Amino acid sequence: MNKIISFPHISYYYIPIRYIIRNITKCEILIPESNSLNTVSIGAKYSPNDVCMPFKYNLGNYINALNRGANFLIQAGGGCRYGYYAELQEQILKELGYNFKFINLIKNNHISIIKLYNEAKKINNKLLFIEYVFYLIKGFLIIVFMDKTHKYIRENQALSINPKEYKKAFQILKIAYSKDKLSILKIIKIYINSKKALKSIPKKQNNNNIKILIIGELYTLMDSTANNNLENILIDSGSIIYRYTDLTYLLFKKKFARTKILKTSRKYLKYTLGADGAESIAHAIEHCKKGIDGIIHIKSYGCVPEINAIPILSQISKDYNVPIMYLSYDGENNIANIDTKIEAFYDMINEKNKKNNTYF
Ligand code: SF4
Repeated sequence: MNKIISFPHISYYYIPIRYIIRNITKCEILIPESNSLNTVSIGAKYSPNDVCMPFKYNLGNYINALNRGANFLIQAGGGCRYGYYAELQEQILKELGYNFKFINLIKNNHISIIKLYNEAKKINNKLLFIEYVFYLIKGFLIIVFMDKTHKYIRENQALSINPKEYKKAFQILKIAYSKDKLSILKIIKIYINSKKALKSIPKKQNNNNIKILIIGELYTLMDSTANNNLENILIDSGSIIYRYTDLTYLLFKKKFARTKILKTSRKYLKYTLGADGAESIAHAIEHCKKGIDGIIHIKSYGCVPEINAIPILSQISKDYNVPIMYLSYDGENNIANIDTKIEAFYDMINEKNKKNNTYF
């Protein structure tokens, strides 16, 4: 039987994940259909009632992949409740009658690269450790370069005369990184060319774009389907978006940032809040000090660490006189009247800026 491996979606990261898994296992990789309301409603149908939204999306992805022929599933989400999804998801899918092997890469609630090597070696016994490390490095480089490019787009697209060119450039980058064979040099060249293309897009002469910080729960922040395309709606309406949570931050920076996070937020916090709750607070403070115009806090419905952050964020909003809007997504319904909510939020920002003109 051919081994067909699949894993859940989160944003554009299926590209580097596919690259790593394909090259270390030499198996066929099946990427689930893109996230949609259908994905989450299928997942929700078989999920426990009170489980948070990423669980439902993941389960919907797995069911889609299994129905299309996948027979190996990978779970690598860690931290918070995410780290305990794997066992429950495997049990639900087995009870639904699917026949597959489930690979859980989580150890002590975090992804283990040694576990990944051991599992890959069981599938591809010719895999050398050095070869594995090499593909891992290349996959990580793709993650870092995609994140850097996306950050540039979030912070510059609204300043452009031709915003469509930004979307086109990111699409080209995605296609270029979707190949099976990529040397380190090629990975770097693709990024440099993409950056050059983006920087050559002409910008408006004058701009007084509103600057918004988006903080909150990681899945809702990073996956555009999970947040009903919030970033693009804001960028299309002329805002510059600041968001620090991406896979580069979660994999490489988060564990070194703890002391700084607690130091920045010491007026409001003594301990971390679990998941990214303390990060939300520290980044809100940092950006308020720099003169951000507004903050949007987003989360999955029922996300406890981010619920704990909300009263503190409201206090920070008052202390720094920066408007804040809270959005909670259950994944099954679009947030009602989102355009009206954003309009009201912009009105608050404009009103505040009339009185107090502070920019970065
Ligand atoms: S951070 Fe929130 S949404 Fe994410 S797994 Fe934890 S509780 Fe669920």
